[in-house]
Formats: sequence, C-alpha cells, structure tokens
Amino acid sequence: MLNSSILKKAQDKGLVRFIVLNLRDFGNGRYRSTDDYPYGGGGGMILRPEPVFRALQFARKILDVPLEDTQKGAPPSLRIVYPTPQGQVFHQKDAWAWSLDPRPILFLAGHYEGIDERILLGNPIEEWSAGDYVLTGGELPSLSMIDAVVRLLPGVLSDPQAPQKETFSGEMFDYPQYTRPPVFEGMEVPEVLLSGNHARIVQFRREKAREKTLRVRPELLE
Ligand code: SAH
Repeated sequence: MLNSSILKKAQDKGLVRFIVLNLRDFGNGRYRSTDDYPYGGGGGMILRPEPVFRALQFARKILDVPLEDTQKGAPPSLRIVYPTPQGQVFHQKDAWAWSLDPRPILFLAGHYEGIDERILLGNPIEEWSAGDYVLTGGELPSLSMIDAVVRLLPGVLSDPQAPQKETFSGEMFDYPQYTRPPVFEGMEVPEVLLSGNHARIVQFRREKAREKTLRVRPELLE
C-alpha cells in the first residue's frame, strides 16, 4: 500500500517518508516472542510491553526524538498514535489537522487482543479509532489514516483544490461522476453535463449531492 499509487508518488516527490518496523525484531528471547497470555484470564493473546517499549525507543532514536522531550510536559515533538477501537473516531477534519502538523507520526499497530496497558499509561500516546468495528490488527487503520493525511499534503495531488470539494470537507457528499461513453447499458449521461452550461452543471451537482446526503447522512446537513 505504501509503495503504490498516491503514497508512492508522495514518496517519490520527497513529500513523505515511511519507516516500517517489525515488532518481532524487538521480541523477547531466542524466538523473538512478542505476545503472552492475559493476567486474570479471559483468553486471547496480548502484546507484551517490553518489545513495544524497545520498538518505541528505537523509533525515537532513528527519528532523533529524545525520550526526555516527551517527559517534561513540553509538547511532544513526535506524535505516537495507537489505533484502537477505543479511541476517538478519526474524521476528515482530523486528516486536515494532521496534514498541517509538522511532527512525525508513529503508528503503533496492535494485534491479538491489544497491547499491555502499561505502554499506554507510560507514554504520551493518542488513541484513534478507524470506526465502530473491530479489526484483527492496527495495520489497516494506520494505513487508512496515513493515506487520508498524505493525500492532503501540499503537492501530493495534482489538483490542490480537489480535496476541498470532496465528501466530508464541505457539508455535503461529493456529486455523482460520469465519464465516457455517453451511453452505457442503456443509461445515458445526464444531458446537463454535456450542455457546457457551467451554471446549470454546478446547480445539478449541488442538487444531486444534497439529495444523496439527505438520504444517507442527513446529520451532515444539520
Ligand atoms: N480487544 C480489543 C480489540 C483488539 S483488536 C477491544 O475489544 O477493544 C486488535 C488490534 O487491532 C488493536 O490493538 C488495534 O490496534 C487494532 N484495531 C482493531 N479495530 C480497530 C479500529 N476500529 N480502529 C483502530 N484500530 C483497531
């Protein structure tokens, strides 16, 4: 994912850099173990705190972020994001805010039943959710957030105005899109889009966007 499409282009243009760490490289003992049984029972496995802690230390080191920096109450120079269904739900407005924040972001992808609570207690970690459902691991939520943010960085998309007009950046959904051919499976492209009448096109698109927003997500218009 990081090395295809927009995320690849953004890297090629030098607008973003990704470093991927494998938790297993920081695992315990000969088998590089990273998980263990939960205290108190209950089933499932939990990511042990030491491998996660070592990975965080290593990340701070290669990003040149001193540990003290985050402990003196100063604003941290590194954002650590733990994707979790128990976090704040990530929205487009957050993607905009993150895209303007110069700090590097570290995504700590959980797995199994999650990570040992002491990692969350002992570090300035932000908890963010991809939505009200549960996934197997934090990789996909991290990729979603990364993708949403990177496409908003200046210079990443060829049309810098494009994201402003999209769903969730205004009060309505984006409008319905058509391309060639003019007739497909008996369905014609709405005549107005071929009319060349810019004012009518704008009006048509607004109406359609409004209609669908009202039908599917009326609260966005409130
Ligand atoms: N037992 C936990 C869920 C663990 S899911 C609970 O019920 O709250 C395993 C990992 O997947 C989590 O640690 C988290 O990193 C990731 N994950 C799962 N669903 C997610 C979501 N909706 N948003 C963000 N991360 C999620």
